[in-house]
Amino acid sequence: MKNLIVSFLLIIATTVILSAAKPIRILVITGGHEYNTVEFNKMLSSFAHEISFQVAELPAAFDMFKPENRDKYDVLVFYHMWQVINDEDAKNFAGCIREGKPLVALHHSICAFDDWPEYWNIIGGKYFHKTTTFKGRAYAPCSYIHDLHFDVRIADKNHPVTKGLNDFQVFDETYKGYYIEEGVTPLLTTDEPTSTPTIGWAKKYGKSRIVVLQSGHDVPTFENPDFRKLLKQSIIWVYRK
Ligand SMILES: [Zn+2]
Repeated sequence: MKNLIVSFLLIIATTVILSAAKPIRILVITGGHEYNTVEFNKMLSSFAHEISFQVAELPAAFDMFKPENRDKYDVLVFYHMWQVINDEDAKNFAGCIREGKPLVALHHSICAFDDWPEYWNIIGGKYFHKTTTFKGRAYAPCSYIHDLHFDVRIADKNHPVTKGLNDFQVFDETYKGYYIEEGVTPLLTTDEPTSTPTIGWAKKYGKSRIVVLQSGHDVPTFENPDFRKLLKQSIIWVYRK
């Protein structure tokens, strides 16, 4: 009996060790916006051992939201700015996240799907390219400015996503005037006048945890150690419930 218990405990210990060592498999969804793929992938490679990645480009990547493909990755990372979606793809896309696939949405992914409000509900934000009325409020087209140095302020230092981070500077692009869902948890803010004040938040959609980070336009941010830490902690937090 004692041997049995020892063997049983050994099996449990091995399982725990193995599962702890297994990297989180992220699927980066791209398409609809150019970016420096080499440097972006270098940033992702810096998370090796803890996080592994594959990249899928829209529109072909819509297949990855189908139920039969959802076990091929653990966390979605959005870095796309795709606009067109048909009803069946929209159903799979929203269903995949609602049913529990966690998501980290970066930068221009908040500008995607101008005509699909459910996407705005998923990420809890939307950069409007045209005058839009949503939930009874009219929004003017948003604006952006490239190549600005600005401060990123940590709104909640005790949140697992921002833990260990102090306020930091980025050289990045700002967006102003975008919609943010009521009730999201603000993680990052900025005083930069050309930006909407809240530039990072956490929320839920269905069973999934979601983190949205506005920064991430180009190489200076990909190389920024604070941004890297933020992204890594976001991926780990949305995954480990
Ligand atoms: Zn950009």
